[in-house]
Amino acid sequence: MLSYRHSFHAGNHADVVKHIVQSLIIEALKEKEKPFVYHDTHSGAGRYDLRDEWSEKTGEYKEGIAQLWQRDDVPVLIKPYLDVIKGLNSGNELRFYPGSPKVGRALLREQDRVTMTELHPSDFPLLLQEFRGDRQVKMFKEDGFARLKASLPPKERRGMVLIDPPYELKHEYQDVVNAIGQSVKRWATGTYAIWYPVVYRQNIDLITEGLEKLGIRKILQIELGVAEDSQERGMTASGMIVINPPWKLEKQMSELLPWLQQVIAPETGHHFVKWVVPE
Ligand code: SAM
Repeated sequence: MLSYRHSFHAGNHADVVKHIVQSLIIEALKEKEKPFVYHDTHSGAGRYDLRDEWSEKTGEYKEGIAQLWQRDDVPVLIKPYLDVIKGLNSGNELRFYPGSPKVGRALLREQDRVTMTELHPSDFPLLLQEFRGDRQVKMFKEDGFARLKASLPPKERRGMVLIDPPYELKHEYQDVVNAIGQSVKRWATGTYAIWYPVVYRQNIDLITEGLEKLGIRKILQIELGVAEDSQERGMTASGMIVINPPWKLEKQMSELLPWLQQVIAPETGHHFVKWVVPE
């Protein structure tokens, strides 16, 4: 069952937090000359037209990226991420929003490479079209977790994995934990960034408790909420759980989140950065 289409949500507050964290991890990897891999397990279409009927229907980007992309008080840490968005849009109109594959690809250097997987019959062709002919990109219409397992450890032994499933089905929370369990056995030193939506808080506890039980260390949780937790349907917050984060990420996100919350949800929001398991 593949009913989820990311175009409904492209550029919303959750994408903003996810792609900022992604960009900071990639920028940290670039501090050394050695090549690295960016591995994207659930890629989506790669780029979204915010004028299409899906995006217009929800207008979620209006409460997300539209709130910050042209502000003049933007923290310098967000610049690499915003430069990707500005590179897709000429002038003042916000028309296109980059998905995680596009953010990742735009930030890579010549020596780096990216692996993308996407299963959706409509989104995979869009992804292919976006990156066709790009020798640094490999795209697979395969299950994201299966391809991850087959790809580890990467030959570079450096890099990040973004795990961003749709969470349409309850078992997907446990699938993430299982995928990390398998992955760290093959590649213990990789940086793994797991995106999560807070719809029911207990599902997020399932991930953090599951990861703790794996016995791995250095697990950082970063979250921005727009409303209090609720038992009603609907996402109230989102975040990233990062295993083996770059050493600066905790401090960077602790600086950025108060600003982001002020811009996106000043009255109703919350934010935190905390260690699920420290070093
Ligand atoms: N990472 C993207 C971004 O930030 O722009 C958004 C990804 S979206 C949240 C999740 C995507 O996973 C959807 O496009 C969906 O079609 C895809 N998907 C669902 N099940 C999958 C699977 N088993 N393997 C790979 N992709 C899958």
